[in-house]
Amino acid sequence: MYTGILMGTMRIVMKFGGTSVAGDGFRRIHDIISRQLPENDVVVVVSAVKGITDGLIDLAHKAKGGDGDHVNEPLDKLEETYLKLVEMSAGRDHVNEAYGLISKLRRDLERILYGIIYLGELTPRSLDYMASYGEVMSAKVGSLILRKLGLEAIGLTGKEAGIVTDDNFGDARILMNATRYNSRRVLEPLLSEGRIPVIAGYMGATQEGVVTTLGRGGSDYTATALGAALDADQVWIWSDVDGIMTADPKMVPNARTIPELSYREAAELAVLGARVLHPRALEPVWDSGIPIYVRNTFNPGGPYTIVHEKEEIGKKIVKATSLIREVSVVTVYGPSMVGASGMAARLFKIVADTGTNVMMISQSISESNISFVVKRSLVDRVYAAIEKELMLKGFLRTVEVDEDVAVVSVVGAGMKGTPGVSAKIFGAVAERGINVVMVAQGSSEMNISFVVKGEDAEEAVRAVHDAFKLGEP
Ligand code: ASP
Ligand code: MG
Repeated sequence: MYTGILMGTMRIVMKFGGTSVAGDGFRRIHDIISRQLPENDVVVVVSAVKGITDGLIDLAHKAKGGDGDHVNEPLDKLEETYLKLVEMSAGRDHVNEAYGLISKLRRDLERILYGIIYLGELTPRSLDYMASYGEVMSAKVGSLILRKLGLEAIGLTGKEAGIVTDDNFGDARILMNATRYNSRRVLEPLLSEGRIPVIAGYMGATQEGVVTTLGRGGSDYTATALGAALDADQVWIWSDVDGIMTADPKMVPNARTIPELSYREAAELAVLGARVLHPRALEPVWDSGIPIYVRNTFNPGGPYTIVHEKEEIGKKIVKATSLIREVSVVTVYGPSMVGASGMAARLFKIVADTGTNVMMISQSISESNISFVVKRSLVDRVYAAIEKELMLKGFLRTVEVDEDVAVVSVVGAGMKGTPGVSAKIFGAVAERGINVVMVAQGSSEMNISFVVKGEDAEEAVRAVHDAFKLGEP
């Protein structure tokens, strides 16, 4: 008699990141997919090979300067990178066949590039078209490799797969209703034939069919959106670390994998620089409750993180730390600010008009100063605007800039309402002789963030990690 548990068919969306698709990555990807077949439906989302997106964006900007001489070399390199993938995973015999496909993709890119060169103009549309090409190559070439390895894979761009977005080029948002309708129409028939769609992440198209990108790291967002659209049972995000960790292991040697996080906690970490998931990646699954597994392609049997609805409070009050570098603090002082209503609104309007995002704010209770954090690369323009609009007009006395600082964040749902957490954090940091420049508590009360000098950043993270014993199970 058969006594095993009969598992129903599962539908899994798997996303493979930039290091997972590089080199001989598609061999590993083949093995990972094969283990789920034939009983489960598998939908694959791929990133560009690591570094390719940066290269394409750079090339587009150079082309705008009319630099036609330097087009061939980077395109040769791009071609080579993807031919190498074929050679390393499918073998030399298939390189010739792949060459036809790869040179066709290259010609598409070339046409766009020469358009940019001749016009001397790089529109957000053409930049997005260019930037999406790494993912397009991964999907088309990757599916060819998987076919050679025996899977019935079919490569699709995000647009072909039915990902519909708004027209906010460079940081587009996925329109879920339209995407659900379109992606089902395209993908359901393929899945019912037992085929494996391999889809370019990070990209989609507007309702009019113009290609858009979803913001850097956006392939995660493609995967969760498809997970929701296709009513998947699970979404697996494959990268090169063992899930989401308590700290960056390069900085904190005893960092550990966090076994479980709630959507809220993971979302908090994603916006706080932990670079584990795209900040919007949790939105599509939030309502449907689809769990996300964050796993390591290079250690598929190793520890991983499940991100789901359930929020585990009690065992660990603090769950993770993260660090944002390359930021600056601007502090404005002015006695006339005391009691002057609308001053903060005015200040932040001026900052916003420079196109700069304010990452953190604190105002002293005396109201005589306000400090805020911005990206270091933007601090010069912020300073200039404040000088022109507020200092020269006599509204402020001084503006100080602390150019090289870092934001350390401490995250955990249990922090809400637990007394003594901040005392413990700042006690630990002070004990190591580190000065805290500025403090802010997230309004969700699930994080406390503080600013330290750039040179103190790693030690501050280690201090918090040790104080809360995050390196222990
Ligand atoms: N290739 C894109 C990037 O580098 C998207 C991604 O990897 O998720 O941002
Ligand atoms: Mg990523």
